[in-house]
Amino acid sequence: MYKKILSLLMLVIIACCGCGKKQEEALTNDLDNIISRDKLVVGVKTDTYPFGYYDEKGHFSGYDAALARLIARGILGSDKKIKFVPVTASDRMMKLYSGDVDMIIATMSVTPKRQEILDFSNSYYTAGQAVLVKKGSPIKTLRDLNGKIAIIVFGSTSEKSLRTAVPNASIRGYRTYTDAYKALKAGKADAIVSDDTILLGLALKDDGVVLLPKRYSKEPYAVAFRKGPESKDLVRAVNNVIDIETRNGHLKQIRESYGIKNSAR
Ligand code: GLU
Repeated sequence: MYKKILSLLMLVIIACCGCGKKQEEALTNDLDNIISRDKLVVGVKTDTYPFGYYDEKGHFSGYDAALARLIARGILGSDKKIKFVPVTASDRMMKLYSGDVDMIIATMSVTPKRQEILDFSNSYYTAGQAVLVKKGSPIKTLRDLNGKIAIIVFGSTSEKSLRTAVPNASIRGYRTYTDAYKALKAGKADAIVSDDTILLGLALKDDGVVLLPKRYSKEPYAVAFRKGPESKDLVRAVNNVIDIETRNGHLKQIRESYGIKNSAR
């Protein structure tokens, strides 16, 4: 009798543990959470025309914002079921890990270091690092920045490459590309080093600055997620959207509408 009760108790415990685990899994599946909330929350830039910026009506705009809307449509059936949260290069990972956003679509390059702490979708664009100078500047290449002052934005990949390629450059960091650009214009530094896409966005609006022709890296942009099993389904769903929208030519159309040159995906 005693044995019977004990094994019954064991069964109840196992069953309960099983239930608890299932519930926990359901709660920590990011895709399920988005579906039950019926809204996608995405971190996008507002300082990186033409990838993430406010248009003249104050709406989130750019290629990254457009991709986010396609993902909302793919997952929730409507591109209106989205909330944008502004992020910068320096705070985007924090906003992801604090749970403020479900994912980041913010000119973010996949790097081996970042892959240790983030999950990434397939890449949807490839940029390259470049140098932006004021018109008439004697700086013609990255190496010319030795002994000069170069601007980077905190949290971006250019700081590391600049330190490696041009160890004698002084580096001045800013929180946003708007501040970085203002500093260059004010003569506080000799150049900004960042992705060609972002720098071109600045150069298109101002013929007082020049984007130098050489590229110094490959920057594969991808959607970033919190790392772990809870992201797996979400990553798969986002990859599916990227795949469909690439094959049907929609992403290319969006890039063209923003004047973004096609990259080798
Ligand atoms: N793609 C680079 C990065 O992920 C630079 C762009 C940015 O500052 O967001 O760091």
